Amino acid sequence: MAEQRREQADARDPGDGGQGAVERRGRRATPEEARAWEALVTTARRTVTDGLVVGTSGNVSVRVGDTVLVTPSGVPYDRLGPDDVTGVDLAGRQVLGALVPTSELPMHLAVYSTRDAGAVVHTHAVHATAVSTLVPELPLVHYMAGALGGPVRVAPYATYGTEELAGHVLRALDGRTGCLLQNHGTLTYGATLDQAYDRTAQLEWMCRLWLTASSLPGRTPTLLTEDQVEQAARRLRGYGQQN
Ligand code: 13P
Ligand code: ZN
Repeated sequence: MAEQRREQADARDPGDGGQGAVERRGRRATPEEARAWEALVTTARRTVTDGLVVGTSGNVSVRVGDTVLVTPSGVPYDRLGPDDVTGVDLAGRQVLGALVPTSELPMHLAVYSTRDAGAVVHTHAVHATAVSTLVPELPLVHYMAGALGGPVRVAPYATYGTEELAGHVLRALDGRTGCLLQNHGTLTYGATLDQAYDRTAQLEWMCRLWLTASSLPGRTPTLLTEDQVEQAARRLRGYGQQN
């Protein structure tokens, strides 16, 4: 990817003397940012291999101090290498890289500026997107809703990449770590890339579960109460290996 960009830049300005000036915009990535970029690219590739997006749909970001590393807009994730680090500050000014940041920057930055988030994952997962066209909130079909803070809301539709969509998403996230985007997809955040990714995977799985259970003619799935989900949420805080 960096190679291709360099060739394009060379074609535009063959007289450019400094290779770094062609390759980078802003400062050089710190070792911590370089490691975070590698993890971000791994996570972005997982969204494709796990079937949560097709092509260049969706986007991923991770925060390192006051810098937010983001997937570039419209670039296949398998083409991203270590030289493609793309980063902005919390106001959206590009501080790392020369690739155009994701078009959903407003949505990602809205989360970082209002939540204690370390990473954000946005996908077009098919079952979650299907559910977003049917209900204003995912019915409480499973206690894992507790892992996202309770019943998962659907943010009303707005054009992708707009501040309006970012505003809808923030409202839908009230008290939650994930939401659906009407006729669009999912957004989750977490302390780490792995946690944000896992919440997306759980959300997609719950949506598939609800669609499956709802598909028998004449039958409707039993649902949990908010109280039952809250009890599970409390228990989930101590789930697994506490090291
Ligand atoms: P980007 O390629 O600009 O990240 O856009 C993908 C997307 O999902 C927009 O909602
Ligand atoms: Zn999208």
